[in-house]
Amino acid sequence: MNIIIFGPPGAGKGTQSKFIVEKYNLYQLSTGELLRNEIKKETVLGSQISSIINSGELVSDEIVSKLIQNFISDQKYKEKLIFDGYPRNLNQAINLDNLLKQSNQKINLVLNLSVSLETIKKRISERQYQEKRSDDNEETAIKRFKTYEKTTKPLIEYYKNSNLLKEVNGESTINEINIKISGLIDSIKGWQ
Ligand code: ADP
Repeated sequence: MNIIIFGPPGAGKGTQSKFIVEKYNLYQLSTGELLRNEIKKETVLGSQISSIINSGELVSDEIVSKLIQNFISDQKYKEKLIFDGYPRNLNQAINLDNLLKQSNQKINLVLNLSVSLETIKKRISERQYQEKRSDDNEETAIKRFKTYEKTTKPLIEYYKNSNLLKEVNGESTINEINIKISGLIDSIKGWQ
């Protein structure tokens, strides 16, 4: 089973991905985390990535695609991936479909975690102190939300057309969302 977890910054994608990983023995592929690892290496590429992330824009499709390719073709992760933060635009969605097809895989479920801008601002300002991410200040968070609305949200239509999309209310408690997501995954596992 391959799953996409979709939603604005601060929706809880990472938190829910970690829960799904443990319960269903899947692997979390977070492009945000892969990019932050690249920054830690202090390479030229890392510093370019850092300034893009801090401006709230998207890193180029080419860079992100390179980062995910190896995971998709690796047998170890076959049918076991949770895509957290990828795809983020139409080009990435098409690229992902193609990469999966090349290794005889597909997406089985797209979870859309929805939350309001008010909740996002609150969560990101709390997270700022815990995780110390350089893009978790209010100004960049609002920019990231705008990038999401403009570029990423239209992907909902793309996945609606393929009947894979399931809505999850991201305003509920972490535990309530865990239960909701488990139900959705179990119902899909049931008919596979
Ligand atoms: P969040 O979803 O909370 O914004 P992420 O860790 O998923 O956090 O992403 C942080 C930043 O990394 C994004 O704002 C963006 O600049 C960059 N990024 C992550 N994934 C992608 C992607 N698939 N394509 C382009 N840029 C990405």
